Amino acid sequence: MTAPDDRILIAGAGLGGLTAALALIRRGFRVTVLEQAPALGEVGAGVQIGANGMCVLDHLGLWPALEPLAWQPEGKRIYHYRSGESWPLYDLGAESVERYGFPYCMFHRADLHAVLAGAVAAAQPDAIRLDAKLAVAEQDGTRAVAVLEDGECVSGAALVGADGIHSVVRRALFGPDDPRFTGIVAWRGVVPTAGVPPQLLEPQSAIWIGPGGHCVHYQLRNGELMNFVGAIERGDWRVESWNAPGTVEECLGDFASWNDALRSLIRAVPTPYKWALHVREPMDAWSKERVTLLGDACHATLPFLAQGANHAIEDGLVLARALEAFGDVETALKRYEAARLERTARMMRGSAANTARFHNPKLADPAETARIAREEFDPAAVAERHDWLFEYNAVNVEI
Ligand SMILES: Cc1cc2nc3c(=O)[nH]c(=O)nc-3n(C[C@H](O)[C@H](O)[C@H](O)COP(=O)(O)OP(=O)(O)OC[C@H]3O[C@@H](n4cnc5c(N)ncnc54)[C@H](O)[C@@H]3O)c2cc1C
Repeated sequence: MTAPDDRILIAGAGLGGLTAALALIRRGFRVTVLEQAPALGEVGAGVQIGANGMCVLDHLGLWPALEPLAWQPEGKRIYHYRSGESWPLYDLGAESVERYGFPYCMFHRADLHAVLAGAVAAAQPDAIRLDAKLAVAEQDGTRAVAVLEDGECVSGAALVGADGIHSVVRRALFGPDDPRFTGIVAWRGVVPTAGVPPQLLEPQSAIWIGPGGHCVHYQLRNGELMNFVGAIERGDWRVESWNAPGTVEECLGDFASWNDALRSLIRAVPTPYKWALHVREPMDAWSKERVTLLGDACHATLPFLAQGANHAIEDGLVLARALEAFGDVETALKRYEAARLERTARMMRGSAANTARFHNPKLADPAETARIAREEFDPAAVAERHDWLFEYNAVNVEI
């Protein structure tokens, strides 16, 4: 048994776990991050961080390191899957800073992850332990204990399960869950912008909507790369993993009747990967005594609002603020959970609601398309669906 101390244990060095670690260290805590992987890293894909996530990253002092790695779109546009006709969704760029206080940025996941991991290691060099797979989460009233796969026990004042969608900590606290396959598969790929059809190289992030599917693309690394995600309704693939390779032919087959420019982008993807999208219901509670959850471990969501990582990042800061504000660990974890439950559940519901909006079968009919665009993407309706997400300020929200 490693000597008990007042460290905060965090299972998982993903974007959520690392944000929590850095926020805690900045507030004077010592942390141990237990990561199962033998090396730190993230998958080769993009991630959108809105003003709400950027608020946290800026508060943690990361903007100077992140700015050169970001791509900042001027806005988002909706495109019709076949005709390519387009409508503005909302403005970003300077508008995001003016309305919400922070920019909206696209990152290569590996870049954002490396900046966070580097900041954690600089602030507390022994914070991250690799090859440390949590097998069992326990507690005895005075301490939390992480039992690793090799039998080692690591104890601390609290244990945070930031161990992702298949969380061991969630199972230890609340038993096995029963995710439901949505019938939707998400494709992802990254392409050097030199190989992208020129008409897609706009300063906007694009969402192509069509019957039974939608595609998203945006640039990364200051325009060096283009990220592609394609969601399609099909029931024959059920593996919930980022790393299952498919083929360009299979991906093209899923978007056979879609616009030629978009299909050219798919042709340029070196290896497209596929992920079967599952949903879980929002949870009623995340914590028991000294053990709690964070990020996908407690609010894994459909990615259709691009907010899962943003909310994991928000969780990290709110958790650190609660532990700083309340001397008693159990009280702190309850206050953290209470501050986060309703917002994360609303985000999960909003993401699910975008399925019907983006995959509307009536988009096959040009007359219906005009009506759908008028009703669904009307600026007032769009603001109502998004302002509450971007306005949130995890630095000073009440806990
Ligand atoms: C196609 C797609 C696109 C997306 N796009 C966006 C987007 O644009 N913006 C956005 O905000 N969100 C997006 N998301 C959601 C986002 O990816 C997740 O919400 C986010 O990565 C969750 O972070 P996390 O730290 O909670 O979990 P994870 O990133 O899953 O990290 C969990 C970590 O825990 C480790 N781990 C797991 N089990 C153990 C164990 N037993 N012991 C020790 N370590 C363990 C893992 O190795 C990993 O490092 C997208 C998701 C998908 C599927």
